[in-house]
Amino acid sequence: MQNRSPHIAALIVAAGRGTRAGGAIPKQYQSLGGMPLLARTVGVFAAHEKVASVTVVIGAEDDALAEAALPEGVARVVGAESRAGSVEAGLAALPEEASHVLIHDGARPLVSKALISRVIQALEDADGAAPALAVTDALWRAEGARVTGVQPRDGVWRAQTPQGFALAPIRAAHEAFQGEAADDVEVALAAGIEVALVPGEERNLKVTHPEDFARAERLLKEDQMDIRVGNGFDVHRFGPGDHVVLCGVQVPHGRGLQGHSDADVGMHAVTDAIYGALAEGDIGQHFPPSDPQWKGAASEIFLKHAVGLAGERGFALGNVDLTLICERPKIGPQAQAMRVEMARIIGCDLGRVSVKATTSERLGFTGREEGIAAMATVVLVPK
Ligand code: MG
Repeated sequence: MQNRSPHIAALIVAAGRGTRAGGAIPKQYQSLGGMPLLARTVGVFAAHEKVASVTVVIGAEDDALAEAALPEGVARVVGAESRAGSVEAGLAALPEEASHVLIHDGARPLVSKALISRVIQALEDADGAAPALAVTDALWRAEGARVTGVQPRDGVWRAQTPQGFALAPIRAAHEAFQGEAADDVEVALAAGIEVALVPGEERNLKVTHPEDFARAERLLKEDQMDIRVGNGFDVHRFGPGDHVVLCGVQVPHGRGLQGHSDADVGMHAVTDAIYGALAEGDIGQHFPPSDPQWKGAASEIFLKHAVGLAGERGFALGNVDLTLICERPKIGPQAQAMRVEMARIIGCDLGRVSVKATTSERLGFTGREEGIAAMATVVLVPK
């Protein structure tokens, strides 16, 4: 490894005409789930924290389409007749600081962040790395409609992209390469570059035919249906004090709530519900009570962390419903302020945050006014 951290450039190849997909415009500019297919592909790389730049190779006639489809900050370069020629043009146009390149088919919009990470990781030990899938169907040779033989599938893999390389060797390989190549691994192998194989993904399909659009749309819809529900429950006991903090709001009271942090029982229940929806444990795991830095901490820190974690995992808050259980203090007059405060911390509309309260009819520990309990339900939706 070099001393400096690598600059990983993404090179998205989208110069083809995509005629097999049908339609009035090239397939990479056709809409997939409400946005141009190419914009979706570019977006995955642009959002990856280890990808420093994104360059797209476009067709000579597609400048206006690309301008409309691509976000600002994405460099464009005009490709050539052949795929290898287009890649060579793209390699020449990468930022000067680039040390590695991920070459990706523009028509594979469902590439995942995890797959990109696997290729980047493999490049730490090799000058080339690319994803592939094992072949499970039997393979035949045929002439016309007549099967003439069986092709052994041992050691045969279905190639995908992104195909990653150290930049200098793949540039040299492309300069030396003559003729037409199926992909950049073929070019790399011709130059003697070692290519590590990493696991590909079935959903990283190449949108080629009209039915591929339908399949990609179905996969995107499935993603949209990944709805998460979580519940949270918390109790804090009363102790000496002159106020309690509930959902970030100071409420005057003859006693305070005891706890390691500010003992905001309502916000803790909501925070735990979010962790629960993500299957990410609970507050105690993320902010151990044994750690003195959380002593007296405002519970806003916990809720912000949970919301941030949800965001990283691709989720936004659908809604939260919190019930505080106590005889006193009276919650009703403060419930609106509590909603406002939690909506601010979460960064969502007020209409998605509910705070309500009930007594327990003087029964049990809440009825005896020994403490306050809170229960919360949250729904997380794909962003
Ligand atoms: Mg608590």
